[in-house]
Amino acid sequence: MTLISAVVPCFNEEESLGLFADELARVANGMMEADPSLSFELVLVDDGSSDGTLSVFKQLSVQQWPFTIRWLSFSRNFGKEAALYAGLKASRGDYVATMDADMQDPPSLLPKMYAIITEEDFDNVATKRSDRKGEPPIRSFFARMFYRIINKISDTEIVDGARDYRLMTRKMVNAVLALSERNRFSKGIFSWVGFRTKWLEYENIERVAGESKWNFFSLFLYSIEGIVGFSTAPLAIASYAGVLCSVIAVVFLVIILIRALLFGDAVAGWPSTMSVILLLGGLQMLFLGIIGQYLAKTYIEVKGRPLFIIGQSSDDE
Ligand code: UDP
Ligand code: MG
Repeated sequence: MTLISAVVPCFNEEESLGLFADELARVANGMMEADPSLSFELVLVDDGSSDGTLSVFKQLSVQQWPFTIRWLSFSRNFGKEAALYAGLKASRGDYVATMDADMQDPPSLLPKMYAIITEEDFDNVATKRSDRKGEPPIRSFFARMFYRIINKISDTEIVDGARDYRLMTRKMVNAVLALSERNRFSKGIFSWVGFRTKWLEYENIERVAGESKWNFFSLFLYSIEGIVGFSTAPLAIASYAGVLCSVIAVVFLVIILIRALLFGDAVAGWPSTMSVILLLGGLQMLFLGIIGQYLAKTYIEVKGRPLFIIGQSSDDE
């Protein structure tokens, strides 16, 4: 028997979940008809939702489905990355798919992904959006900038437009689980562990119900998370800038000394002095801030707090 797990992080998804389960059931039935040795499980993770997501879990799990349902519910909102980690950890499948509850990751793609992973010797079939249609142009611009910068300064390839919808072998899932860091930038983590990856592209689909949990500011913070998590280049840039400033300072000093000795006009030049002080003061604050970012991340990792806390789960029932 081959078990396929679908791991779904859910934050306020009471409206989408039923539709999602129906669609997954349709797809699972189709796949089991074609290959009777397949079986399915659905792992639902409630990421501290404030709506009825948890009660929908409970309703769904008493109904008849072509898959078994296991669920866990966090004690509060820990974020999608933590929910994904918890779901992967709870999953038992030989193959594991991670997907959103809002149908932006269409379950109907699963048969194709499964065919590729079993027939073509890949460990991972991942998806990415083929365009950024329907997105505000400003956001697309910053997104592109982010990917350009991070791919320059990081050894880990971060694919533009990659979604979190993927099908992985157990081997890869275990590798991802071994990275138990708290700063979880999953686009980086899935790429860092390596393995042969096949990319499928599809057009962006609007979510069926509810609202996206991302706004511009949260995306901005997430991008910093990605840079700090997968590159130490900003630290190096800070020290190079420091060296450059010191060299310029020495040159200036020599010029000023010579001028003072030859012409004796040491007083003039208040505006230029102020400019230099302000510029250097600003740069120092900026670089201290960058060091602070890494220090903060280190602090959080060192504390070693759990990635998530489970409030309830289907194992208690
Ligand atoms: N999600 C989560 N915890 C959060 C935010 C989101 O588990 O704190 C889940 C959400 O329920 C959905 C998936 O992550 O299944 C993707 O979220 P969303 O659709 O808001 O993001 P988008 O598709 O717009 O990138
Ligand atoms: Mg979505």
